[in-house]
Amino acid sequence: MRAPSTRWQERIHRIKQELLALGDMRPGSLSEQYNVCGKPTCRCKAPHHPRKHGPYYQLSYTHRGKSTTEFVTRDRVAEVRRQLANYARFRRLTEEWVTVSLRIARRRRRRPEE
Ligand SMILES: [Zn+2]
Repeated sequence: MRAPSTRWQERIHRIKQELLALGDMRPGSLSEQYNVCGKPTCRCKAPHHPRKHGPYYQLSYTHRGKSTTEFVTRDRVAEVRRQLANYARFRRLTEEWVTVSLRIARRRRRRPEE
């Protein structure tokens, strides 16, 4: 049976490989908006079953303390969703790397011979 610290080192090695394989990323969240327009006779103002315009896609994120919101055209939605998913994965992987590193450090303190 291999020592836990060996397994943890292997896990960190795999995390690094997964990070290397990550594509483009961006932080934030994508929301769908539906609007009404100014035309009084438009379908978006129909008294029964009004159908609003949209969806319009809006991306919000905070980077270095600055919050930004931007519109995303429909043809870029799939790409942006992939980037958001990559960022979430990046965060999960680095979080796990830190968690495993802390475990290794704790174990080394208790068993310096390993
Ligand atoms: Zn309208």
